[in-house]
Formats: sequence, structure tokens, C-alpha cells
Amino acid sequence: MAVGTITTAGRARRAAYSFALLAGCALAPLGAQAQDAAPAAKPVVLHCPALLDSVAGKMLGQTSVVIQGDRVTEVVSGYVTRPEADVVDLAGETCLPGLIDAHVHLSSEFTPTVYSDMLHFNLADWVVRSTVWAKRTLLGGFTTVRNLGDSHYETVALRDQINKGWVAGPRILTAGPAIGSTGGHADDGDGLRMDLQPDVGAHDSIINGTADAWKAVREHYKQNVDTIKIMTTGGVLDLSGSVDNSQLTEEETKALVAAAHEYGYIVGVHAHGAEGIRRAVVAGADSIEHGTFMDAQDMKLMKEHGTYYVPTIYTGTYVTEKAKGNPHAYPPAVQAKALLVGPQLMKTVGDAYKAGVKFAYGTDAGVFPHGDNWKDFPLLVQVGMPAMYALQMATINAATLLKKDKDIGSVAAGKYADIVAVPGDPTKDITLMGKVDFVMKGGVVFKKGGAEQVFISTAH
Ligand SMILES: [Zn+2]
Ligand SMILES: [Zn+2]
Repeated sequence: MAVGTITTAGRARRAAYSFALLAGCALAPLGAQAQDAAPAAKPVVLHCPALLDSVAGKMLGQTSVVIQGDRVTEVVSGYVTRPEADVVDLAGETCLPGLIDAHVHLSSEFTPTVYSDMLHFNLADWVVRSTVWAKRTLLGGFTTVRNLGDSHYETVALRDQINKGWVAGPRILTAGPAIGSTGGHADDGDGLRMDLQPDVGAHDSIINGTADAWKAVREHYKQNVDTIKIMTTGGVLDLSGSVDNSQLTEEETKALVAAAHEYGYIVGVHAHGAEGIRRAVVAGADSIEHGTFMDAQDMKLMKEHGTYYVPTIYTGTYVTEKAKGNPHAYPPAVQAKALLVGPQLMKTVGDAYKAGVKFAYGTDAGVFPHGDNWKDFPLLVQVGMPAMYALQMATINAATLLKKDKDIGSVAAGKYADIVAVPGDPTKDITLMGKVDFVMKGGVVFKKGGAEQVFISTAH
């Protein structure tokens, strides 16, 4: 029987039991009562022939991981069991902490017709598809993602419905829509007929000036986002001419970062050009996304400020290969930019690693098909990173960037039972990351023996 089935049934039992107790104790504080009332769920013990210790950066031998409910309670060397436990034997596998992709777009996916689809699809069409893309991401072993840009806060809803158990997907930290300036990478009116270009403002995440910057962040707070994404430079896939020009002033960038930090949000910054990267780093941004034309001064500043680099390296090569293979792969303005970024990004990532910049894993999935999130791994190794470091990027480093390392990023007592497995040692063959065949998120098994497990929603 699938562990997921057991755990789901256990949850339903706990919920029913809690409800019965609460009904008889109307005066008790609800939260505390519900907590105390939950009976111990049947433990699950994973037997892992090898386990990645992402904090120490080493591979452990035979290890037992004891799980109670949605959390890990013990990590024990060798194979042990616990009373009444269901043991899951992962013979031949290497266990890893659930993977984290710190840069995805779960409510869109690029296709040759995407620019016209935007004019024909309603938001609901994208949202229905996003539930499938979320599941593909999870089944690829990515149990947590940071969603860095949507259209109308639809990934806030996706996050909430996944958390409530209506649909299967990764844990989501979402930025809502990315914030940029008029005509910039965040302005959806770029390249359209003038009568299709509304005069958008801070309410629409388009800012001009520092007051707008504060208003836009506060709008995001109002919509219950988890994090903030800003655009200090041009981008590849918008219908404007420049990929690397600066699109937010130093003052606007500082105001956005200050406002975000005031509300407790970390800030991910889309930036290709060296000056836009510099402005973000000195403003105190938490991560630079893409960083294609990062120069030596930027790298030095990032080390001084402790800024993470989220390189989205597969996306760079993906768009370049597409453009090379087909002169009409993208509209003309995009085609020229796409040809430029791939080789440059490969070089920059290698240089930044050698320079000692800190990295976290993030792919820009949605530019390429969701579920292929693992494809950054081989390229990171190709530009000179040890496989172990690439794996740390997607576990403890990304968790630390997201300020969630108390809950995720390593397999340890007290953290969520987010655990995946691949058939062999990925530090010896990094392409195994494309063969994740066991996925557990919060103690629920979504994939086992390479097969998707039936997800039965008990939400109501
Ligand atoms: Zn971007
Ligand atoms: Zn992106």
C-alpha cells in the first residue's frame, strides 16, 4: 500500500478526532486544543542506502529517516525501525532533501503561439493549466518553488489550494506579479498596438518614482504574497529592444527593496545588465536572477553584500538553441536577444563561481516546459561547479535564500518530510537528477518506484 494512502487516511482521522473534541470544549483556545487533540499518526521509516547531507556537503551511507505526520522526527545511521512503523525500502536509491527551484513561473509556459494566446486566453485558462504544471514540477522532485512573476496574483490562489489539499503541487512562495517600470520588462503593453496599451500604474505593478515603489509593494502585501520580484533591466522574451538596459533608477530600486524588507519580504531581482545588477546589490536585494552580463565589480559587490546568484542557466541555453534552430522561433525583437544570452550566461556563471559568489538554484521554468527543472544541474557542472555544490544550491542554499531553512533544505529532525530519491549517486552522474523516482512532500508520497501515486483530495 502506498505510504501516501496511509498518511492521507491518518490525516482524515486526526481531523475527525480534533473536531469531536472541539465540539465538547467550546471554551478552550481553538489552536491549542486542536494541536493537543491530534493523536500520534503511524510513523513511517525510510530506509535509504545513501542520503545527501546537504548541510555538510557529503553523502551518508545507509540511513533511516523516521517520519511522523508531515515532519521528520529522527535521522538514524543504519537501518532501524520503530513500533507500528511502515518501512519503505528504497534499495538502490540515493535519498535527497526535496529539491527547491527558486525561480519558476507556474501559471505560464512558453509555446510558439504564446504571444497570441495572451490575447485569446482568459486567466482561468492559465489557472487550470497551472494545476498541471504544478504537479509536473512536484513529480520532478521539486517540493518547493519560489514563483517569481504571475499575471493577476493567480499563484497566490494556486499556493493556497495546494496547501489546503485540493490539488497536488509543490510548496509555493509567490511574488505575485513582478514589479517594473513603464515600457520595461514587467509592462505587458510592450510591442502591442497603442490602443491595447492601458496607462498602467503602481496598482498594476508598474512604477515611476519612489512613492509608486512603496505603493506597489503595499499592493502586493494586500494580496498576501510571500516575496517580491523586481525588474531592474530589460529582458529576453518581452517585445522591446534591449535585454540589458537599466529600467529602474537607483532611487526606485532602493525604495522597492526597502519597502519589501519593511514588510519582511526577500527580493529577487531580474537583472541582465551590469548596471542594473549593481543597483540591485547596493540596494540590498537578496538575489540576482539571470545576471547575464554581470561584471567583475558586480561579483565583488555581491560577495561583500552576501547576495545570492540564481543563474537560470538552462533557460539561457534553451532560448538560444531555439532561436538558432528556427529563425521564426520568436518574434524578431526577441529572436535577436535570445541568440545573445545563452553563451554569455554560461561564461558568466562559471566566472562568478570561480570568483566566490554564492549561488542558489533557480531555473525560470515556464520559459521551458515545467517538469524539466532538473536541467540546470548538468550545465552547472559543465561550467565548473562540483556536482555536490549544484545539489546544495537546490537544497540548503535555496532554503537559506528563502529564509525557510528551519523547515526545508535538509533531511533533519523537525523539518518537513520533503524527501526525494534518484536511482544512483548524483554526485557521480548528475544526469540522474532527471530520473527522480520517489517523491515525498510533507510525509505524503506522490511518486514511488517511478510511478505517480494517486492523489485523492480529502479537502472539503
Ligand atoms: Zn527574468
Ligand atoms: Zn523569470
